Amino acid sequence: MKIIQTVMLELITMMNRREILKGFIGGFCFFPFLEEADASSISLIKRIRYSSNEERTRIVLDCTGKVIKRNIEPFLKGKTLWIKLKNVRANKIVKSLKSPLVSEVKVIPINKHVVKVKLVMKEPHKYKIFALKPYRGKPFRIVVDVFPDFIVTNCRLKTNKKRIVVIDPGHGGKDPGAVWPIRSKYPRIREKDITLSIALRVRRILKRYSDIKVIMTRTKDVYVPLLKRAEIAAKSCADAFVSIHADSMPHYPNWNGVTVFKASPALFAKAQITAKEVAKKVRICNDIMCWSISPLLLNMSTTITFVESSKLAEKIVNNLKAHVNDDLVNGIRDMKRNIVVLKTPGRPAVLVETGFLTNPLDRKRLVQNWYQEEIARGIAKGIRDYVSSLNQTAFVM
Ligand SMILES: [Zn+2]
Repeated sequence: MKIIQTVMLELITMMNRREILKGFIGGFCFFPFLEEADASSISLIKRIRYSSNEERTRIVLDCTGKVIKRNIEPFLKGKTLWIKLKNVRANKIVKSLKSPLVSEVKVIPINKHVVKVKLVMKEPHKYKIFALKPYRGKPFRIVVDVFPDFIVTNCRLKTNKKRIVVIDPGHGGKDPGAVWPIRSKYPRIREKDITLSIALRVRRILKRYSDIKVIMTRTKDVYVPLLKRAEIAAKSCADAFVSIHADSMPHYPNWNGVTVFKASPALFAKAQITAKEVAKKVRICNDIMCWSISPLLLNMSTTITFVESSKLAEKIVNNLKAHVNDDLVNGIRDMKRNIVVLKTPGRPAVLVETGFLTNPLDRKRLVQNWYQEEIARGIAKGIRDYVSSLNQTAFVM
């Protein structure tokens, strides 16, 4: 679980850009109400208005007349969205926005019939441009909607009856995770192999249940960035996210057994204070995943995530106890480390540390098929129990 924060931040920025570019090419721009017309008169931009909520910032340019589709040319460069408007005139207007997504909008007259609109976003976000005809006393309008990269409420519209379970075998590829012998160039035991083997067993067991759909973050020995893993959980609207790992504690060779980690309340409490102070979107992360939420949603979604993650952890621990020796199950712990920078809305998530490679007995057990199978059964049955409890209470998120 060694992650370099700056690398992840860079990754996020890179990914956003790529997403935006994709979106741009794919066409986020719609002009639903505009027909091509002979625009003989030059429209004047009178003013900028905006409104902002957690899911969208809307910028409205009030105009004196129609602006046709081919005269609106958006161009995204990094965090700046440029919109070239032809057959439009304006005086210079600068507007600072109190929005979590956009910081400033500028209307810059280029000449008597060309205007550039500069929209400075806080991060590269998705956007949509369209026009509205005069309506109920409102003039002709050019509207720019800016959306956050991920809308937390997406998952509420779930129609799929199957419960989605994301199984995440820790590490992989160039990242071996914990190894034994420690610091060996050619270790005999690698965490990435153990986690994959157990995870594939969990998948095999869960496949028996027709109401569960299993999604794996990896099925081979490949490197998957943590950001990608959390993205998989977010985009699939996972009902449960279970990350599988094995630990290493060189200074404590006596430490052994299976431990199930869930998000730490302290982590959330801290994030909540920060969110209130800065009154904007924050990312709170633990070793499993991160949540990108606004202060308004923070209270609600963290409460749900807590309760659900605890339930999931409890079910897994109970079932592990039935499958491996009671003494070997350490129970549930709070994840206190705050290492990874990812962005995913709150999905019930736990991380199972299946044992310690630094403990001789754990090490011996963890590489054996029978032990991996027992751990996998415990985890799979725990997930199964949790999913059944969801179905009973008709929990929808
Ligand atoms: Zn690990």
